[in-house]
Amino acid sequence: MRVLFATSEIHPLMKTGGLADVSASLPQALFELGVDIRLVMPAYADTLARLKAWQVVSELNLGLFGHARLLQSHLPGSRVPLFLIEHPSFSTRTGNPYNDSTGHAWPDNAERFTLFCRACEMLALNQAMLDWQPDIVHGNDWQTGILLALLRDNPQSPPSLITIHNLAYQGVFNRATFDALGLPQNLWRSDALEHWGDMNCLKAGLNAARKIATVSPSYAREIQTPAFGNGLDGLLRQRHADVLGMVNGIDIDEWNPATDPHLAANYTLDNMEHKALNKLALQREMGLEIDTEAMLIGMVGRMTEQKGLDVVLAAADQIMQRPVQLAMLGGGDARLEAAFQALMQRHPGRVSVRLGYDEGLAHRIEAGSDVFLMPSRFEPCGLNQLYSLRYGTPPIVHGVGGLNDTVIDTFEATLADGSANGFVMRNLDVPAILWGVSRALEFFQQPKVWATLQAVGMTQDFSWSASAQRYLDIYHQLASTHDELTPASKAPAPETSPAVSRPTRSRATRKT
Ligand code: ADP
Repeated sequence: MRVLFATSEIHPLMKTGGLADVSASLPQALFELGVDIRLVMPAYADTLARLKAWQVVSELNLGLFGHARLLQSHLPGSRVPLFLIEHPSFSTRTGNPYNDSTGHAWPDNAERFTLFCRACEMLALNQAMLDWQPDIVHGNDWQTGILLALLRDNPQSPPSLITIHNLAYQGVFNRATFDALGLPQNLWRSDALEHWGDMNCLKAGLNAARKIATVSPSYAREIQTPAFGNGLDGLLRQRHADVLGMVNGIDIDEWNPATDPHLAANYTLDNMEHKALNKLALQREMGLEIDTEAMLIGMVGRMTEQKGLDVVLAAADQIMQRPVQLAMLGGGDARLEAAFQALMQRHPGRVSVRLGYDEGLAHRIEAGSDVFLMPSRFEPCGLNQLYSLRYGTPPIVHGVGGLNDTVIDTFEATLADGSANGFVMRNLDVPAILWGVSRALEFFQQPKVWATLQAVGMTQDFSWSASAQRYLDIYHQLASTHDELTPASKAPAPETSPAVSRPTRSRATRKT
């Protein structure tokens, strides 16, 4: 089984969120199941700086976008092959892959990710001098939507699936932008790219993919409703038979308190006193009062509306009346950043906020905190609550999406059956957050029950084994039914693209 896995982020080469973690750990798990999986991502300036070595394998003619070099390397610390598309619009810019330093989207994002998709298309069609054609193309999020749309309209393409990591980001651009991209005109149709007069890259991917995976069963259901569908719920309802919810795994080697090199002290269930050393070290590192009694609440993540931080801010002064501390790491929305800094100034020594991206500190907050607060408005899967469970740091979450699927609220029945591992708020408002924190505090002050909660999380299986096997089953299913007539193959005949010549190699000539 040969799979081309196209993504815009891969940890540790470029990361803005969970997509990067999944794009490293899922392919690794599939590779270990025997899949010939190859990754492709843009060669950002920071990515090239982080990669130790690569080779130039070919030069791709991308028509109106000029040329890109195809680089070959490996996922760091792994044998999974990695391709990089090196084009000046990626390789000459540092920092965030989508936004400039002021947080605004790069004005040429449509061009950048169209040319990325064009280059991926050449790989998918064995036109990149590799003598390798995938059986399946696996796209991820809006950045790969155009790739899947281009492939759908070409009968020589392998079948594709897409994983939605976050439906809120869709890659929407106007008609004039579409006209300048040199894409086939017939992609401007409502069952491809067009959406209410704009182009919508994610919609194109969802229309084109034979299967639509998302990263938790609850989110798979939620996105088919107007409340969570971000305008695409109608399409997702239409495709409901093809929408699959598969909870993400984590990299259990990288996120392992027993071996984590970022920690002050490693620990397992047998020496939880070492977890307490991490709390002291975190208080010292973040300038918090040294206080073993206070319940230290950790938070890590992008500062966006999605994460419910406005509600935390509204509740924060009341929360701080309790015997708690708050350690937060994140960055993003300038107003949220300023509000959290103001909160820190109002509660010196009890609230500490670090702005920016810091992988090591993210690990230390997971280990050193007593509880982890994640009151997301919506959460496709969420990885931080999984990390916190594994680090013996019970999460307090809003029960949506993957948070609903992975955190089991603590009450009599769940304590009795041994499933309780955290605290689940059914609403997202100030009373709910105060209630969540109070309940956590109540149990935190009962060391025996607390130790039970910690043990449940620390012994759960968060590996990829089950979900990676499901992805593999879907790949096999798609590959074996590929030749049957599908709705996708009934799509209108494609126009010849002005940007990239069409493939000449037929599927029959592929190596098997
Ligand atoms: P999302 O994908 O919505 O950002 P997830 O919980 O799925 O949320 O994944 C977030 C990932 O990004 C986690 O690995 C988390 O540790 C990491 N992360 C987010 N913000 C930061 C930051 N400021 N510094 C370090 N790691 C961060």
